[in-house]
Amino acid sequence: MPSLTSLISKMIKPSCAVWEITLKCNSNCIHCGSKAGKVRHDELSTEESLNLVRDIRDCGYKGIALMGGEPLVRDDWYEIAREIKKNKLDLSIVTNGLNLIDNLQKLKSLKADCVSLSLDGGTAKVHDYLRGISGAFEKTLNAINRLKEEKLPVSVITTVSKTNLNELDKIKKLLLDREIAWQIQIALPIGRFPRELTISREEFYTVALFIAINVKKYSYKRLPVIGAHCFGHFSRFIPNLGLDPWIGCQAGISVLGIQSNGNIKGCLTLPDEFIEGNIRTQRLKTILEKLRLKQIQVKGYCTDCDLTNSCRGGCLGTAYALKEFEEPYCLRAIENKMFSSKQFPMKGKLDSTISSLRNMFHTLIFK
Ligand code: SF4
Ligand code: SF4
Repeated sequence: MPSLTSLISKMIKPSCAVWEITLKCNSNCIHCGSKAGKVRHDELSTEESLNLVRDIRDCGYKGIALMGGEPLVRDDWYEIAREIKKNKLDLSIVTNGLNLIDNLQKLKSLKADCVSLSLDGGTAKVHDYLRGISGAFEKTLNAINRLKEEKLPVSVITTVSKTNLNELDKIKKLLLDREIAWQIQIALPIGRFPRELTISREEFYTVALFIAINVKKYSYKRLPVIGAHCFGHFSRFIPNLGLDPWIGCQAGISVLGIQSNGNIKGCLTLPDEFIEGNIRTQRLKTILEKLRLKQIQVKGYCTDCDLTNSCRGGCLGTAYALKEFEEPYCLRAIENKMFSSKQFPMKGKLDSTISSLRNMFHTLIFK
């Protein structure tokens, strides 16, 4: 009999296509997962990009998030963004903010649905070091202020590594009471980022606690903070921090990843072995059909986990990047190691069942 999770998964509609419109970047971030900097030699032309927007709409997606590299350095970004709005899709822009002021009027005229800026430090010293650009912190804060003045919806993304773990509280103070959504994610050892700067499991648990404590302490209006898909899952003590309920990796289900040369993956976080096709040689619809039939393999510790069917290995991008299916970055797995089962509120099958139900209904029952 299919599990409740797999039935819910089938009902999920395509939601957001995340599209790296160029690999060109004016920043030089230490943690860049796609080693952005130079333009790919075979990036989609303007005409191919405009056709792709219409194909994404026809495949049922509700919105497109433009990212890079740095999307605002692509000469025709505005034309692509305008086509997205013309096709009545939600438009998000994920930017480092360095040249945002030059593009502010265009963003305003587009009525962008969300502008997400990267903020990786609460001080210029840490942020500029991580972004590889002196003066980046001031420019990003200025961009946030100007977007707020123009009443455009702003969010901030913080990528956590050992270098900025202690900055979270300072960043929080910069964002509190400003109605700026804040997403926290972990830096993965892909692209340029060195493995030794990835946070440990204990640090990962600490960041999860930081998010949970602040969710409890402040109303959503005062500090709308969430964990990205990499934060989870099925903790016995910490409520879901991001997607709620967690029904497994969304690659190719509600999420889609598009590289600037038209390669398609379920999610841009996944390695290139997950490229399923290219829109120059196949219709997007055909690639998506193949993608949805594909079952990504759960391995190691996750195979034997009591909640494999509900969770399906957590964030697969994280698992593959860290090559850590044996000891996943997973709240439940960490708790299993840290505590004896006698310390858990419930035991055995009852524990698994309660965790599953709590995942599905915790918003309803526990909040
Ligand atoms: S151990 Fe794996 S399958 Fe189990 S909850 Fe954690 S990530 Fe999910
Ligand atoms: S790989 Fe991770 S970030 Fe990507 S869709 Fe899956 S859970 Fe989300």
